Parts: sequence; structure tokens; C-alpha cells
Amino acid sequence: MTTKTTTHILGYPRVGSQRELKFAQEKYWQGDIDQAELKEVGSLLRHRHWGDQSGAGLDFVSVGDFAWYDHVLGTSMLLGHLPKRHRKGFPDFDTLFRVARGKAPTGCSCAAADMTKWFNTNYHYLVPEFSADDEFTVSWQQLFEEVAEAKQAGHAVKPVLLGPVSYLWLGKEKEAGFDRLSLLPRLLTAYQQILSKLAKLGVEWVQIDEPVLALELPAAWSESFNLAYQVLHGSPKLLLTTYFDNITHHLDNITKLKIDGLHVDLSAAPAQLDEIVDALPENWVLSAGVINGRNVWRADLSALLARLQPVKAALGDRLWLGSSCSLLHSPIDLDLETDLDPEVRQWLSFAKQKCREITLLAQALDGSVVAQEECERYSAPIKARAASERVNNPQVRQRSAAITDALAERKLPYAERARLQRQSLGLPLLPTTTIGSFPQTGEIRTQRRDYKAGRLSEQDYTQAIQGHIADAIARQEKLDLDVLVHGEAERNDMVEYFAELLEGFAVTRFGWVQSYGSRCVKPAVIVSDIYRSEAMTVGWTTYAQSLTKKPVKGMLTGPVTILGWTFPREDLSREDIANQIALALRDEVADLQANGIKVIQIDEPAIREGLPLKASQWQTYLNWAVKAFRISAASAEPETQIHTHMCYSEFNDIIKSVAALDADVITIETSRSDMELLKAFEEFAYPNEIGPGVYDIHSPNIPDVAQIVQLVEKAEQLIPAERLWINPDCGLKTRNWAETEAALGNMVAAAKQLREQW
Ligand code: GLN
Ligand code: ZN
Repeated sequence: MTTKTTTHILGYPRVGSQRELKFAQEKYWQGDIDQAELKEVGSLLRHRHWGDQSGAGLDFVSVGDFAWYDHVLGTSMLLGHLPKRHRKGFPDFDTLFRVARGKAPTGCSCAAADMTKWFNTNYHYLVPEFSADDEFTVSWQQLFEEVAEAKQAGHAVKPVLLGPVSYLWLGKEKEAGFDRLSLLPRLLTAYQQILSKLAKLGVEWVQIDEPVLALELPAAWSESFNLAYQVLHGSPKLLLTTYFDNITHHLDNITKLKIDGLHVDLSAAPAQLDEIVDALPENWVLSAGVINGRNVWRADLSALLARLQPVKAALGDRLWLGSSCSLLHSPIDLDLETDLDPEVRQWLSFAKQKCREITLLAQALDGSVVAQEECERYSAPIKARAASERVNNPQVRQRSAAITDALAERKLPYAERARLQRQSLGLPLLPTTTIGSFPQTGEIRTQRRDYKAGRLSEQDYTQAIQGHIADAIARQEKLDLDVLVHGEAERNDMVEYFAELLEGFAVTRFGWVQSYGSRCVKPAVIVSDIYRSEAMTVGWTTYAQSLTKKPVKGMLTGPVTILGWTFPREDLSREDIANQIALALRDEVADLQANGIKVIQIDEPAIREGLPLKASQWQTYLNWAVKAFRISAASAEPETQIHTHMCYSEFNDIIKSVAALDADVITIETSRSDMELLKAFEEFAYPNEIGPGVYDIHSPNIPDVAQIVQLVEKAEQLIPAERLWINPDCGLKTRNWAETEAALGNMVAAAKQLREQW
């Protein structure tokens, strides 16, 4: 007799299929609704999402995955552990928003906590801040209230907790000479209290997330798990969850832990399954995370069934099935995508559909013939996709296969290119430029929307955008900038814009995924081989160039960033996909150049975030990422100046690869670090030109001339003036024109002042 396979997911998206939570949060922050109304929306969404889970037949619903802003911040609230400046009195609902945003409808304003990326996803969490005298007191009742709420609604509840070691790891020390790991014993006392409260609420299993186990940890950290789970062991039972990569490098240690079950990500790291099954202690359950929580593809259930049948035979009812990670990272409901091409649609599956995949697979594993047949039927389209002509384009494949190292080489080395570019561009010392976008006014957004919806004709739209371009050019000439841009009025998003124009992508209507707080992104899906059927930016760029004698910089998004900010296909390596995009961009570069564009920027803000979780794999990634960029740039003649832009901070550990991009000019974000970041470039003797951002575009503050002069003087200590550019930190689309013109006016004035001085 077969035993029943237990089914669950690691978490559900919280934002709502119509982004209800986002809109309610934003209304609350603006004072348009009160706390009770906001909480009502939260409760409604939780009930709906639990309904989706139990409706699909999952054995548990996840509770504790709902967060008003972020689940790491939720954990900090639960532990009564907030940044010191926010510890005034007992934390309440608005404390949460104050820590997240620096302000809330009630209480004082003070600096928000830092936000950073959640492992290698596009989700951002609020970084816990640790001091030697920190204490942890279970204070915020949200988790317990939600457990009670779900139980009352009749659900079988499995609470989700961020584990203590991961919580410490994800935070940062606020003082020098102190190690946050030393807080573990104190932290564990609070976790004990949480667990015993959950036990009292009748909870049998707790999912305790320790995603840091996918990393290569320092010994003290990996050893700390022993103490942690020694202390936490008891009732409720603990399912230790890991995700985003394999954990076999820690397996010897993990199998000694006092826990009751282990969850592994078999979507990111399928190869670890056998080793895990072999090493699994006899009394543990194994939760097999087979349904990908981070991508949008329909699972091949019949293949998974075949793969898991021997595991089921070995483990019996100790086998659980689940999503690979929390479904937080996938869109919610495919049923809403009525505009998607029907062939493409049957290849996809979003959070709601993934829950059903898990239960169907479990029923099939448990021996139901009906379910087994259903798995076959369900998997047929995704199996058929492998041979689909629409997916596999022989010409694209041939061109990618023919890539050589030479294809990634410019014709001359930088020093010679720089000389030719100086002659052809005739730029002054310390040339000034911007990063690409100009203010996206309400008018621009409405026109784009009307055009998409068919309310604005092609001709009227073109005229409208040309009007914005002409306006942007006129303003830049008046400001006396040296290298101009067309302003990107036609782009909703730097990736989606290209995804819509390139062949091989599908764009969804409601495929929103939370990025941070109330912010969501809607990544396009790479469904097939990528190619360019026609020029994408040449029309707008040459129009801009026709209006001015100054060089206009063409503006492209790089291959690594397009790949990084979309849902990739899974039947091709990331490297192969990046190369296909690179070849398409390479043709765009050639077209821009052939049409008289002398400066072309290829943005790569996502190179750093694509780094694998395990440091030992960084170089392999960087090699192909750099090569993809170079393939797109290398159709440029030596006289054509290639820029790239990256909007982040840490360059120390990747500087060699950044230099290997061999862009003629790189613009980076530096103003907030007071040019500190440039040190990495100096120490490495970075050879090409650099535009360190001289003011922060995230703030409405107008930098004054003296401030900018001072920053550039500081930069000149590290990089010779001949190789320095002057520009803002990033694009200006979120600012208004008044701020933009005032700030750029001062920036140009500072450049002119320094040219006279030097
Ligand atoms: N060219 C883009 C812009 O100016 C760059 C944005 C980015 O790097 N995130 O908007
Ligand atoms: Zn940027």
C-alpha cells in the first residue's frame, strides 16, 4: 500500500493578483485610508491565498509569509529587534513603515533601514542592524494572530519563520570589533519563546528557513547551526528549509542537526537529490522542492513523476513535495493572462497553478492512475515545446554556435580608440553627459498607454514622442551638456522595451512580482530563440541627432541585464541566452553607427546581481557575462565610443571583470559614497574613461556647484582628469524637470569652473 505524500509550498506571493496590497499600502501612506482599511485588505488577501492553497489540495497552508512590507522586517518586528534609532516605546504598526521608509503616518521620521537584495533574486529585504548590547523580546503578535486567523478559517497551518542563523547572517554590525554571531545564544531564547507559543496554538510543523545554507559559509557560521538547532529542537517539529542552490557542501553537518525534516531546492539544484536521499537520517522527512518558485514554466510532471518514484519507494510517507522556494518570486495567476498567445500560455504556470502541480504530482506518486494520466496530459504541451519550430530557430542557433573570441574584440585597443574618438568627437576636458532617461511626465505615460491601447494612432504617437525628444534636446543644448541623449520617453522600462521589440519574448499583463515594499516588477518571459527583426532604437536616436550638432548617445540595455531582469527559458543555458541577446544588440550597435550615431551606451546595471551564490562559481559567470557584453559592443568601429553604465556601489571584487568589458567610458553611482568607490578603480589601475556620478538622482535635493567641484576634485586624486567624465549617478526619469535642470545646470557650471582651473 502506498502512503500519502504531504504537500505544501514555502510561501505565497503577498501582493495580490491585482496588486491590491500595493495600492492599499500607498493609499495608507498618503493618508487616504486608515489602518483598519489597510488591515482589512491584508486579511482579505491572506484568506484568498490560503484558499488558493487549500483549494489546490495542499496539506498545509503557509502562514507567516504575509508581510506588510518585507518578511525580514517582519522577523525583526517579531523579535522586537529594530534599528536603535527606531526603538522608541513598544513597536506598533507604523514602526514597521518607519523602519522601512523612514516615515509613517504617525510618529517621527528617522532614517530608514538599508535595503539589499535577497540572495540572487530581484526581491529586496530590509537589513537588520546589530549591536553588542542588542536584546530580543518577542513583541509583535502578527505571526500568532495570523496562525489563529488561518486556523479559525479551517486551514491546516504550517507557520514559516526565517531561521536564526540566516537572520543574523543577513544583517550587519553597527559597531566595529563586534561579531553579530555572538548574539546567537540570546536570539535563540527568543526563538524558543516563539516556537513554544506556536506549539500552544496547536502547530505541529514549523518551516524554518535557513537559505544561507546554500552559500559557502565561514566555519564559525556553519558550526553555529549545531547550537541553534540543539536549542530549538522539541515541539513543534522543525522542517529546515534551504533553497536557491544545492547544500551538499554542508550535508555532513546538516545531517547531524536536531531537526525533523529537510527541504531542498531540486529546481535550482536537481543533481543533489540522490546524495540527499542517501544521507537522510531515518526519522526525518524530506521535502522535495521540485516545482520552481522562481520561474513561470509549466512543470514537466510526468518527467518528475519518473524521477521521484524511486524516492517515494525509499521514503514512503517521509516524502513531502513542495515548491522549490517561496512562490513570492513568481507571478500569481496565469488565468488572468487572456492576451497571451494560446500556444505560449500552455507552456506557463504561475503561483496559483503551481500549487495544483504539486498536488497532482503527489497524487500520481501515491499511485492514482487518474492523476498519472492527468500528469501526462498536463505535460504534453511543455514536452511538445522542445520540438516547436517557434522556439528553435536554426539561424539563431547557427549564428550563436559560430561565436568566436574574435567576435568579442574591438578592432583596436582602448588607447588607440581613445585617440580617434577624441579627434572625431572633439569633446572638452571633463565632458558632461547624463545616463539616458529624462523626467517621465504624466503626459508621456498617458501617451504611451493610449498608444498601446490603440487610442492614439501610430502617427500621433510618433509625433508626441518626437516632441518630447525635441524638448529634451533643446533643454540639453541650453544647459550646454556635451554628449546629449534622446531621453527615453518611449520606454516604460529599460528591459520590457527591448523585450517587446525583440523576437523571442512574451510580455504579460499581470505578471507582477514584488521587488520591495509596494514596488513590483513585471519581467518579460524568454520563450524562444532571440533575434532582432528590425532596428529598435535607430529612428528615435537619429531623430534626436538631426536636431543638434552635438553627439547624441544611443541608448541600449545590455545582454546580461536583459537576461537578469526577465524570466529565462530553462532549456538553454544562461550563457547561450545572453549570447543570443548580445548578437541582436550587436546588430543594433552597427545600425546606429551606420546612421551617424557616434556614441552608444550599453547599460549593464545587473551584472553584479547575477553573481552566483557560491563565490567559487563567480569567475565562470563573469567570463561569459563579460563576453556577452563585448560581443554586443564589438561591432563598433574604433571611432565609435562605447559607454556602459552600472548603478551600484561595490566594485572591489569584480573590478577585473568590469575592466574586461573594455567600454570606452563607464558611468557609475558614486555620489553617496563620496567617491570612495573610485578607489577600487584606482587600485586596479583601471585604464579607460570613468564618469563617477556627481549627484544622487534618488533625492530631490539640488547639489550646489561647490559640492560637485569638491567631488570631482576628489575623483581627480584617483583618476587623471583626461579620463574623467561628469554625470549624475543614474537616469533622471523619476525626477521632475525643475529639479533636473537646476541640478544639471550646476553640474555643467562645476565642469566649466574646473576646466578653467586645470
Ligand atoms: N539608461 C537608463 C536610464 O537612464 C539607465 C537606468 C539604470 O541604469 N537603471 O534610465
Ligand atoms: Zn543606473
